[in-house]
Amino acid sequence: MNKANNTDSVVSQNINTIQFGAKVFNNSKMKKYFSTDVYSSLKKTIEEGKPLDINLANEIAQGMKQWALENGCTHYCHWFQPMTGITAEKHDSFITKKISEDGNVLMEFRGKELIKGEGDGSSFPSGGLRATFEARGYTAWDPTSYAFIKDTTLYIPTVFCSYDGSSLDKKTPLLKSMEALNIQTKRLLKLFGKNVKKVTSSVGPEQEYFLIDKELFKKRKDLIFCNRTLFGAKAPKGQELEDHYYGQIKPRVAEFMKDLDKELWSYGILSKTKHNEVAPCQHEMAPIFTTTNLSADQNQLTMEVMKNVAQKHGMVCILHEKPFAGVNGSGKHNNWSISTDEGENLLEPGNTPEENAQFLLILTAIIKAVDEHQDLLRLSVASRGNDLRLGGNEAPPAIISMFLGDELTSILESIMNGTTYDKKAKQEIKLGIDTLPTFPKDNTDRNRTSPFAFTGNKFEFRSLGSSASISCPNVMINTIVADVFKEFCDELEGAKDFTASLNALIKKTLIKHKRIIFNGDGYSAEWVEEAKKRGLLNLPSTTDALPYYIKDENIALFERHGIYNATEVHARYEIQMEEYAKLVNIEVNTMLDMAEKEIIPACIEYASDMARNFSDFSIIYRNHFGDTADNIPATIAKNIGDLLDKANTMLKALQIGKVEARKISDMTERAKYYTKEVIPVMDELRNACDELEKKVPSKYWPFPTYADILFQV
Ligand code: ADP
Ligand code: MG
Repeated sequence: MNKANNTDSVVSQNINTIQFGAKVFNNSKMKKYFSTDVYSSLKKTIEEGKPLDINLANEIAQGMKQWALENGCTHYCHWFQPMTGITAEKHDSFITKKISEDGNVLMEFRGKELIKGEGDGSSFPSGGLRATFEARGYTAWDPTSYAFIKDTTLYIPTVFCSYDGSSLDKKTPLLKSMEALNIQTKRLLKLFGKNVKKVTSSVGPEQEYFLIDKELFKKRKDLIFCNRTLFGAKAPKGQELEDHYYGQIKPRVAEFMKDLDKELWSYGILSKTKHNEVAPCQHEMAPIFTTTNLSADQNQLTMEVMKNVAQKHGMVCILHEKPFAGVNGSGKHNNWSISTDEGENLLEPGNTPEENAQFLLILTAIIKAVDEHQDLLRLSVASRGNDLRLGGNEAPPAIISMFLGDELTSILESIMNGTTYDKKAKQEIKLGIDTLPTFPKDNTDRNRTSPFAFTGNKFEFRSLGSSASISCPNVMINTIVADVFKEFCDELEGAKDFTASLNALIKKTLIKHKRIIFNGDGYSAEWVEEAKKRGLLNLPSTTDALPYYIKDENIALFERHGIYNATEVHARYEIQMEEYAKLVNIEVNTMLDMAEKEIIPACIEYASDMARNFSDFSIIYRNHFGDTADNIPATIAKNIGDLLDKANTMLKALQIGKVEARKISDMTERAKYYTKEVIPVMDELRNACDELEKKVPSKYWPFPTYADILFQV
């Protein structure tokens, strides 16, 4: 054995001792606990999307139960992702009323319990999808995602539907969008003579997060109730030294990361990269990419594991998009690609004329899809938290555009203009005839300012907020790309001269949609102006973006591919509007509470102590030395008094705003009122209080400051 092989086996041993995948019912467990027949039928179901033979369900359930019981489980649960984006679970124990002769209770788990669970779903928002007389929804096993064990429960990933079949969750539409993409991509590949069995989209989500000390967290109501700070003056140091990104990982955080890896590996999650991020206390974990559906489930589990592991280390993991003003917030880069069951990544530029044409057709389709559906991409990342981050010079702007890099862009330009690509080589690109010129991979892919960037063999959608489920953005990407593939196939399938039609289609499409390509600085003010000239959408807030959900052409798009019907789209729109309104209301309540009960009393206490002490001091001073020239206490009193006055005025205004908002019964109107009328008042109240924080001595300040929190871990 050579040296390299040796090293390989040592590394895999290290991970084995951590028991990679110990808590998941993965392929190797299936092989062990199922008969060969059952295993191969189930594999077929998973790999080819064939429906599961109901007769196998009992044997599958039996195998799963055995594994679960051997690993200390007493319960099972159907695990699902309701439309709010969290995960939900309802636990049932395996026990039955049957008692064995020796007095032990029998544990049972039948096929029908595996496949279908019923639950009262009435307290999950349904956006009017379930009539009140039929509040029950049901969950059904999704065999394409592995079951796993957490604590003493067997978790079964499921979809969540109402009795009329409407989807009440985030997983069902994701699976449907993957299927739509599968269907249309297979058609497209046939044009190039390829018959593949299955096309899958994959995602690698890079997860950013903050870690802060638990004791400090507990002292701030805004962190407890909103997961972000609503007040807080800048610390003397922020991220300006750029010393945190990729910086040395502090021991306490390193211990956390080690434990996190171990936990994630035990769930079969391929945690790969870990490093410090830009802001103090901010970090990132990136797993190796996998099938979108699995990736979505694993990312939900990852976020939960992060929070639990942090607790064990006396810290809190904050996944909010903007926990601290003035330093970077957290996002989740969604690296997306499409590949065939034969292992071909369809976003990899090829080496032969056919591959060249295929790649350029796919690329052109994605350009058209992103340009035509900027609205859907934008709204798929819309949330109260993400509004605070997008466009803030730390994350892509709210304007959707695409980065392709200078080299690829000039190749596309030469196609559009019929000119030579490389002046030196005098190479003109004839699609389907020439090979794509080998272009150097663009260094500018480090351009972090683009929302949708081509990074060599994948697209990186960078606008996602850190706490979001990746489901909705990927439903959008899969669906809009499938839709353009469909349109292209409809046009090319009947073409008499395929190469000529292909050339014409690519050229015409690129010319029409090139406005979406922007390789410059997406953070700059000039880009906002330029994007406006190009007619690109700029939707700064959630309430600007969400109404695009229910536009006729978008509903028609979803219906065309069987992703959502009109009712389901409306439900999602309403739920998100309502959630936004509720979140702002919680923030308002928390702000009022903190300002009224903590900040203002603390400032008054300081002002009165100061006045009292100063008058004692002044008496002594005057008795011995006469009057001081400056009336220092009066100056301080005026500063504090003016700010207190402002804070108090804003507090009153916010109280009124809160009451007014709640008078509006239409949720969309209420949400818009929060954006336009309430949030600006919140900002002003915050400003006044942050100014006070700078002037009031630390010992009076009622909760830990940014300086205390951000530099303590
Ligand atoms: P960067 O920080 O440069 O953006 P990272 O290495 O942190 O990159 O993360 C890149 C992510 O992209 C990882 O999750 C990786 O697995 C994923 N990725 C790599 N290749 C593909 C691909 N073909 N399809 C989808 N995701 C991919
Ligand atoms: Mg990235």
